[in-house]
Amino acid sequence: MKKYRIGKSVQLKAKPQCRDCGELLDGATGVGANRPRPGNVSVCFYCGHISVFADDLSLREPNGEEMREIADNETILAIQRARRKLKQ
Ligand SMILES: [Zn+2]
Repeated sequence: MKKYRIGKSVQLKAKPQCRDCGELLDGATGVGANRPRPGNVSVCFYCGHISVFADDLSLREPNGEEMREIADNETILAIQRARRKLKQ
């Protein structure tokens, strides 16, 4: 099984809200990175909804091309598996 490097948890000044469940997402932990950057994918800790960080680090829905890239991204799949395990 592939191992992933988890970055340090950071506070998000933009305090984005999940576009699905509405939870305030004021912190983030990166996989293979520290601070989120525009274009990075976000997985909601609460509901698993997938969003993309916008230029102002708010969250937006992924566009069609991003959705195709996300669909077979092993890191995203691993995050979703880890979330499901934590929620059990
Ligand atoms: Zn959510």
